[in-house]
Amino acid sequence: MAQLTANLTSTKESFTDVLIIGAGPAGVMCANALNLAGIKVCIVDKRLIGLAAGQADGCQPCTIVILQSYGLVENLLKRCQPVWKLIFWNPTLVLA
Ligand SMILES: Cc1cc2nc3c(=O)[nH]c(=O)nc-3n(C[C@H](O)[C@H](O)[C@H](O)COP(=O)(O)OP(=O)(O)OC[C@H]3O[C@@H](n4cnc5c(N)ncnc54)[C@H](O)[C@@H]3O)c2cc1C
Repeated sequence: MAQLTANLTSTKESFTDVLIIGAGPAGVMCANALNLAGIKVCIVDKRLIGLAAGQADGCQPCTIVILQSYGLVENLLKRCQPVWKLIFWNPTLVLA
């Protein structure tokens, strides 16, 4: 309790137009859009470290179109591997 009180009293006051809670794709894209519109944004996340495993191994074409509309796609396209076809195979499924 003493530690919590100490942290609260030493917290600095700050001001922003929009506070976004969560730096996942939704929060980051929202922050980017607001920033481009000239709106001051602060984004916070409870997660202290990055992800242990990727959560965007595959991107749908419509995602790429949205990223393109914000001028964010060039780097992605340089690093990604386009996949034209996916097949899911279930060895236990028997077709009649
Ligand atoms: C293992 C895995 C693999 C995946 N692979 C793919 C893929 O290949 N392609 C694909 O398109 N999608 C994939 N997904 C789905 C994709 O990760 C999610 O759709 C996407 O992350 C959702 O974005 P979001 O911003 O809505 O939420 P999140 O990414 O969950 O972000 C929410 C953020 O808010 C923070 N937060 C929550 N509550 C608080 C709070 N009270 N205070 C502060 N911060 C808070 C969290 O720490 C988190 O960082 C995968 C997901 C998983 C789990």
